[in-house]
Amino acid sequence: MSYLSINPYSGEQVFSAETLSSEQIKSMLAKSAEAFLCWKASLYRQRAELLFKVADLLEERADEYAAMITSEMGKLRHEAVAEVFKCAAGCRYYAENAEIFLSDKLIDACGSRTIVSIQPLGAVLAVMPWNFPFWQVIRCASAAIMAGNCVVLKHASNVGICAGALEKLFLDAGAIEGLFINLYISSSQVAEVIADPVIAAVALTGSEAAGRSVASLAGQAIKPSLLELGGSDPFIVLGDADIEFAVENALSSRYMNAGQSCIAAKRFVVVDSVADKFVELFKQKVQLLTVGDPALESTTLAPMARKDLCEELHQQVQDAVGCGATVVIGCEYYGDSCIYPASIIDNVTEQMRVYNEEVFGPVATIIRVKDEAEAVAVANGSRFGLGGSVWTSDSDKGESIARSLECGNAFVNSIVKSDPKAPFGGIKESGYGRELSEYGIKEFVNIKTLSVSYHSGSDTEEEKDSKLYRAVEQR
Ligand code: NAP
Repeated sequence: MSYLSINPYSGEQVFSAETLSSEQIKSMLAKSAEAFLCWKASLYRQRAELLFKVADLLEERADEYAAMITSEMGKLRHEAVAEVFKCAAGCRYYAENAEIFLSDKLIDACGSRTIVSIQPLGAVLAVMPWNFPFWQVIRCASAAIMAGNCVVLKHASNVGICAGALEKLFLDAGAIEGLFINLYISSSQVAEVIADPVIAAVALTGSEAAGRSVASLAGQAIKPSLLELGGSDPFIVLGDADIEFAVENALSSRYMNAGQSCIAAKRFVVVDSVADKFVELFKQKVQLLTVGDPALESTTLAPMARKDLCEELHQQVQDAVGCGATVVIGCEYYGDSCIYPASIIDNVTEQMRVYNEEVFGPVATIIRVKDEAEAVAVANGSRFGLGGSVWTSDSDKGESIARSLECGNAFVNSIVKSDPKAPFGGIKESGYGRELSEYGIKEFVNIKTLSVSYHSGSDTEEEKDSKLYRAVEQR
């Protein structure tokens, strides 16, 4: 399949590209291998210089990049600008901290003086989704590049403009040729890229289906993989919660990016005693959302990225309604556009698809529970484990519940969000491995034990120590 971007609001085709042939892929991967030979020997200072420059360019070009994002996948203009600025912050974070995280460490082990030396692996294949077309790529690439790896991007086939712009961004910032390359390839060509000896590891952000396939290909090739997959985050509203505050946050968590975020609140698990009030206030807020042209400031709900995604979402909604769910607002779709109305369905039960599957669009599902214990059981009764939030006026109780949530990102009285300084990732079928923070940059490295024994010379203990420290400092 070739790359094709259709503006979700106007329906206009804005980009197309044929996929590369096997020969073209080989020759581009050869450039990556060559770049790695040079980049792995670079100093942290040189890597940081590149990422600081990338950050500066991102900020300078924020409007231009935001326009690309809005045109290709329909994100609201101000959300797209915020995404680009977040990328700049992510680059600066690793530029400032990678050396601290990855420098050699002297340890007392193996009966001799030993260094833990962290070294890059090679080219990391980044298979990325369209929903945050800049951030997902930069989140992965900034860590990989600061660790001394190269990046080979396979972006989603509906964001080819963003993919090309990201490759150019790195070149404009002064990256050596091959350090960051974009391959226009289909998902079926991912297999041959993973199998290629140039690729040392693979990171995939996307759906479960893609995750299963990529992880098994990486397993066949015995290459490390990292999976950032979908979620069905619970938003647990307890009886003592400030309902107005919870509703304000429910609105932004569920409808931001037209509901197309892995960490959007997807299951609103609400204790019976406050459920009527929560649903009524939520409905009042939701009916104020204005869906339309994402480039206009007056629009508060974006179209979805593609028509097939609206159709899939509507099938999930129809299944729920058929099984007895109540439509609170919205849920009307006639298959003629990418505009899906802001919707809420109540009385959702475990027989329904929306209870068990990820709902990737502007539809909130309400699951009523009798008490906190049932809320936690429902929250954890999911095959996903990405994030979750708890809303209560008792923050100690909130923390205790958050600790018991089976997920990678648990928040109390705040929506789930990512921050370059905090580890991000999931458990269960939401994937494995972590991005961001010190943990993320250590995913694709060789953590090498380097043990040096002195047995012949006349070095004193102090001289031995000083040699080792000099060795550590020079690295
Ligand atoms: P997707 O359809 O899985 O696509 C993601 C990427 O994988 C695209 O580049 C896609 O290429 C490729 N791909 C798809 N099937 C593949 C296969 N069998 N083998 C190899 N590559 C394959 O997901 P999406 O619709 O773009 O993104 C939405 C999903 O991503 C949601 O489930 C969302 O929750 C998840 N997500 C997770 C996170 C996280 O951090 N956990 C963040 C953002 C999104 P093509 O476009 O060419 O098919």
